Amino acid sequence: MQIQEQHKRRVLIKFSGEALAGKGGFGIDLEILKFIAQEIKNLYEQNLEIGIVVGGGNIIRGVTAAQGGLIKRTSGDYMGMLATVINAVALQEALETLGLDVRVQSGIDITEVCESYIHRRAIRHLEKGRIVIFGAGTGNPYFTTDTAATLRAIEIEAELIVKATKVNGVYNKDPNKFPDAKLLSLISYDQALHDHIKVMDDTAIALAKDNCLPILVCNMFKTGNLIDVIVHQKGKFSLVK
Ligand code: UDP
Repeated sequence: MQIQEQHKRRVLIKFSGEALAGKGGFGIDLEILKFIAQEIKNLYEQNLEIGIVVGGGNIIRGVTAAQGGLIKRTSGDYMGMLATVINAVALQEALETLGLDVRVQSGIDITEVCESYIHRRAIRHLEKGRIVIFGAGTGNPYFTTDTAATLRAIEIEAELIVKATKVNGVYNKDPNKFPDAKLLSLISYDQALHDHIKVMDDTAIALAKDNCLPILVCNMFKTGNLIDVIVHQKGKFSLVK
């Protein structure tokens, strides 16, 4: 009798570079980096295959760099992509310190620093239990790391993309301004696009919609929350599907 190999659940986690910045609003706060790495390790130990995309907004964004006209948007975007690689390498170190096996794959070739993105290789890493961090976004200017994360999630056939944020999910209005703001537990892709929900850009949502990839929005800064929402589907979160 042939023994069927049990497939592990595979998810892709996206968080913004800003999440790493801490109160200073810039760069990498090492305590936050350590906290996030520990949360990811705890999740990994729930028998999951994990891909990660981290943004670069804590260092530079193309749109911001191009303000004033000194730096062209395309160059600014490449600077932003390089910023994501800096964050990816930092996260790799933090995860490896916790004993995990990690590979960074970049959408633009920087072979002295990390592997280049090769789809089949990424899959192999995941199957071998390695965490794969996808750096440099899509490798193309005029995109965001939300779109890159959605693209990579689809490519690696993740069952869902987790947009890990500082808030519990998507609200009907800004919860920082309106105390009566309601958390929306389920939102259709069309509604998310219509409302231009802030947690994910429209290009990313449209790509997720075209490929039936559910987007789970949750808070990454509550200890144990990633496990609660991803593994046990309990607690507060929003699902866009
Ligand atoms: N970027 C890009 N192409 C991509 C992904 C990112 O040009 O496929 C650039 C873009 O300038 C972006 C920056 O990298 O502003 C950092 O990414 P993002 O703003 O998505 O980071 P986050 O807001 O998640 O920290």
